[in-house]
Amino acid sequence: MTVTADPPLLDVRNLTKHFPIRGGLRNREQARVYAVDDVSFTVQAGETLGIVGESGCGKSTTGKVILRLDDPTSGQVLLKGEDITTISRREMHPYRQQMQVIFQDPYASLNQRLRAGDIVGEPLGNYGTLSATERRQKVADLFDRVGLRQDAMHRYPYEFSGGQRQRLGIARALALDPEIIIADEPVSALDVSVQAQVINLMMDLQQDMGLAYLFIAHDLAIVQHISHRIGVMYLGKLVEITDKKSLFRSPQHPYTEALLASVPIPDPRKRKARKVLAGDVPSPMNPPKGCNFNTRCPLAVDRCFHEEPALREVAPGHMAACHLR
Ligand code: SF4
Repeated sequence: MTVTADPPLLDVRNLTKHFPIRGGLRNREQARVYAVDDVSFTVQAGETLGIVGESGCGKSTTGKVILRLDDPTSGQVLLKGEDITTISRREMHPYRQQMQVIFQDPYASLNQRLRAGDIVGEPLGNYGTLSATERRQKVADLFDRVGLRQDAMHRYPYEFSGGQRQRLGIARALALDPEIIIADEPVSALDVSVQAQVINLMMDLQQDMGLAYLFIAHDLAIVQHISHRIGVMYLGKLVEITDKKSLFRSPQHPYTEALLASVPIPDPRKRKARKVLAGDVPSPMNPPKGCNFNTRCPLAVDRCFHEEPALREVAPGHMAACHLR
């Protein structure tokens, strides 16, 4: 008997997004921003994959292309084995139900003119499967689920605190019972104490509903808390990906080691041993030849300046892109 494994919930294959910069009389391409370059990963049902990296590393663009808010230059995005990379907006409709988004700035992402109940219920109206009464009940349940009082349904977004607004954004994302949520810096705009509450809420929801998250953030400490596996991006490329424990215990890429140096750790001996990363991220319009980390890497050797390292398995389930591993 042949046993066929289920495909991953989300399967991103060699995803690439370049933005041409045009100009001149003939509006020809003058330069190109290499925002996302040959990025591949999977997310399984019920799993959280954290994607971490400095500002401008391409992590948010990756999320937007997966959501089809932007078209890829090349590569594929498969949802439960079905290729959604080039399908039309109309064809995308049923897939949007399965894949929802939470944005960084809850204030900007919520329609300020609508009452909170209507904001959360809007996706249910768009998909039109429930009666008005059922919709009202579902919205009330969603308010409960994210820890908002039901009487707040009549308030406007400006009447909520930042944390409450993000809870509204989460309730809206949950309205269609998605299987995966792409969360793009969902707590970066919140106070530290509120960040923990929202992260804990997301983890509780995952437990209750079997949700998967693609959790995009620049803060490794936050990603560490919520993720099962973590992918590290640098200048448009995925340079390391593995389970959380292996990444923190045994990072294989010098960039990951540098990122870890910024995470507060209680053991002062370990703190001393870790090196802090110097220099700025090079322009994504002109990434370095060879390994794109060679301008900042303390370990760089001659080979690093003319040969690009492939992302390969350096230990079971642990991938890294470095010539020295
Ligand atoms: Fe550093 Fe070379 Fe490894 Fe790149 S390939 S991370 S430059 S040692």
